[in-house]
Amino acid sequence: MKAVRFHAHGGTDVLQYEDAPDPQVHAGHVCIRVAACALNHLDLWQRRGLDRVRLPMPHISGADISGTIAEVGADVAGLTVGQRVMLQPGVSCGRCEKCLSGRDFLCRSYDVLGYQSAGGYAELVVVPAANVIPIPDHIDFISAAAFPLTFLTAWHMLYGGGGLTSASTVLVVAAGSGVGQAAVQIAKAARARVITTARGADKCARALALGADHVVDSTTEDVAKRVKTLTDGRGVDIVIEHVGVATWDASVCSLTTGGRLVTCGATTGYDATLDLRHLFARQLTFVGSYMGAKQELLQAADGLFRGWFAPVIDQTFPLAEARAAHERLESGAQFGKIVLTSTI
Ligand code: ZN
Repeated sequence: MKAVRFHAHGGTDVLQYEDAPDPQVHAGHVCIRVAACALNHLDLWQRRGLDRVRLPMPHISGADISGTIAEVGADVAGLTVGQRVMLQPGVSCGRCEKCLSGRDFLCRSYDVLGYQSAGGYAELVVVPAANVIPIPDHIDFISAAAFPLTFLTAWHMLYGGGGLTSASTVLVVAAGSGVGQAAVQIAKAARARVITTARGADKCARALALGADHVVDSTTEDVAKRVKTLTDGRGVDIVIEHVGVATWDASVCSLTTGGRLVTCGATTGYDATLDLRHLFARQLTFVGSYMGAKQELLQAADGLFRGWFAPVIDQTFPLAEARAAHERLESGAQFGKIVLTSTI
């Protein structure tokens, strides 16, 4: 098969579009002919190299995958060759106390497709049958690839970490990011009040079109001040944060007393500081979040299939142009998901 692999960590030039061995299908697994694979920031960290994490080399990234079933392994029931599917990005043991209580994202062996296993920057990928989610005919492959990781992450952050209800006021940082566009849509579907941020007039207009009640232009406005004005000095119940150092202080200041900040990333740096007086005097809660439960993705996917959610696609690139796709994501110019296409 053709795949995009890297043999050593580095810049985008380490990504090689090349021949790779077809993956072998073992029992309990299926082989997917990849139609589309969406990029995530995780892919950039993998390519650059992570402290204390050794990746299998040569490495095939890609956690967000859609396609058709090419082969079904032994001991797999209910799935057939040719079926259109998208994939759960999280892989777990399925046997431990965490997995059996529906909190597979806390499993000690938790992994994401394309991390310790080969991912979707390829024509074929082999995954556990438990990761396969059949998709209806009206869902196109690009939307199906752009959906799982960010909607799962945002769903778990809002409901699991934030305690989202229709009475919540939510600040979603960076509506143009993968998690941001998903969080705005999920919070609005729950009829919460949503304030979001974006950089520049064009992205602000697109954030409003997503359904946000208010958008703050973070290039010209003081975010925390504007949030306080929009909430009559109260602040928000939930902040969905993933940007890190660049937005952290404004995010903390935007919380109401008893508010919850949920974070799943630090793309601008992780050395944020916290004034402990805010923590106890304002009785704030800080929640770290990584991925989410398989059951939560199925709940979110139901919303996709019913037409409540539509992942925002920034741009698609043929698999062979993965370097350009990585450069686009690194530039921060995107609004929504960047997707590699393979056989469609
Ligand atoms: Zn487990």
